[in-house]
Amino acid sequence: MLEEGALKRYEILVNEEYCKGCGICVHFCPGEALELSEEFNEKGRNMPFPADMERCTGCRMCELYCPDLAIAVVEISTSAAVSG
Ligand code: SF4
Ligand code: SF4
Repeated sequence: MLEEGALKRYEILVNEEYCKGCGICVHFCPGEALELSEEFNEKGRNMPFPADMERCTGCRMCELYCPDLAIAVVEISTSAAVSG
């Protein structure tokens, strides 16, 4: 039987309007879950993306350090534990 906490998963949302591609969130992510894209968006910025969410602990350091409030960590429902 898994503990409830073991089923927690997280999603990373990046607001392309606010993000300037500085990479601070990538730098401070202790789990190395984020990477900067090698491709530039229409604003000429390379966005961070979740390269390996298995490594994300939901610590929210990326949120805390982003100077532009451009990244958010969302906990995904753990209702998978309930089956019929
Ligand atoms: S919540 Fe923590 S582990 Fe997850 S992407 Fe952000 S800084 Fe990295
Ligand atoms: S710290 Fe914020 S502005 Fe900088 S790349 Fe990350 S999300 Fe974008």
